[in-house]
Amino acid sequence: MFSRSEMRDDDQTYLSSFLESARFFYFRGKGHLFRFLQNRVRWHLYPRLHILPGFPDHLDIEASSACNMRCPMCFTITEEYKRVTKLTVMPFELFTRIVDECVEQGAFSIRLSWRGEPTVNPRFVDMARYAKSRGIKEVSSLTNLLKLTPAMFEELVEIGMDWLTISFDGMGETYNQIRAPAKFEEAVAKIRAFHDIKVRKGSAKPVVKIQGVWPAIKENPQAFYDTFRGIVDQVAVNPLLDYLRKDTAIAYRKNFTCPVIWQRLAIGADGKVFLCVHDELSHHLVGDVNTDSIERIWNGPLLREAREIHLKHMGVERYTACAQCFLPRASVPVTAEVAGRMVTVHAMTNRSDTVGQ
Ligand code: SF4
Repeated sequence: MFSRSEMRDDDQTYLSSFLESARFFYFRGKGHLFRFLQNRVRWHLYPRLHILPGFPDHLDIEASSACNMRCPMCFTITEEYKRVTKLTVMPFELFTRIVDECVEQGAFSIRLSWRGEPTVNPRFVDMARYAKSRGIKEVSSLTNLLKLTPAMFEELVEIGMDWLTISFDGMGETYNQIRAPAKFEEAVAKIRAFHDIKVRKGSAKPVVKIQGVWPAIKENPQAFYDTFRGIVDQVAVNPLLDYLRKDTAIAYRKNFTCPVIWQRLAIGADGKVFLCVHDELSHHLVGDVNTDSIERIWNGPLLREAREIHLKHMGVERYTACAQCFLPRASVPVTAEVAGRMVTVHAMTNRSDTVGQ
């Protein structure tokens, strides 16, 4: 039954044009377009209808919980993250066991990243290869680019990896400061090399999305867009989230029900499973794939209870992770002009606009 709940999946804003975005989605699903479209309908509709698939459609399987950067706005630099998280890489045997269950149960997509930087895991490319060889329709990953070489990217093209999102905050010195020790010019040259590899090999995949935090590019979003237009498939920005847990005057949306716990499951590098992909600080353990199946965890009492609580719009009261999460927060629209189009960024209310605050 439809509810009058407020739901939203994310707060990303595309700087790319409608046609560029349509092309991105077409190539993302290329090779399995029917399943892709079916998956998109399920993704958005099932939570609204309160239909729970017997197995998550998507899994975030954390190749590494450790990161090789120290970006000033990221939760991975906090003492709390280091205290509650086992900083490690996922053993390949555990990963293959997880993927095998995903294949048996018909999961549509996996992402090789969650909180840390996945390329820190020396088996990152092997993980993508295994997942694609086992028939997972969509294999994707986030990356900060630092360790990802053109040679590795070429392997990802050959494997048929579907989608890569590169975190890229700001231009020039702004990028150098936020993303140290990476350097802006070298990073752009690397992305251009990735594009050239795809052209040379005649492959549209992996589709590449660039995303950055809005405050890092807000002075000149046009320059950010122009830098990447033509060498990536999608350019996007995110509002600055409160990953450092600095906010006190938080305003929430009314009657919020979270769709995420109907859509996806996040598995840490050590096999622990938490409430959701936005429980970065491990507040609510709901299972462990070392000792249990994904299917039992997904349908188990802890996640069932979380869904019931969210249907009563009480997630923020009941769960620390939800109270700290950006999804239930009220937002204010901030508009800017890019390439003659107006784009709207959904900034959190009472949220600082300074990276690192
Ligand atoms: S932390 Fe709560 S509100 Fe945020 S995505 Fe997870 S379940 Fe949803």
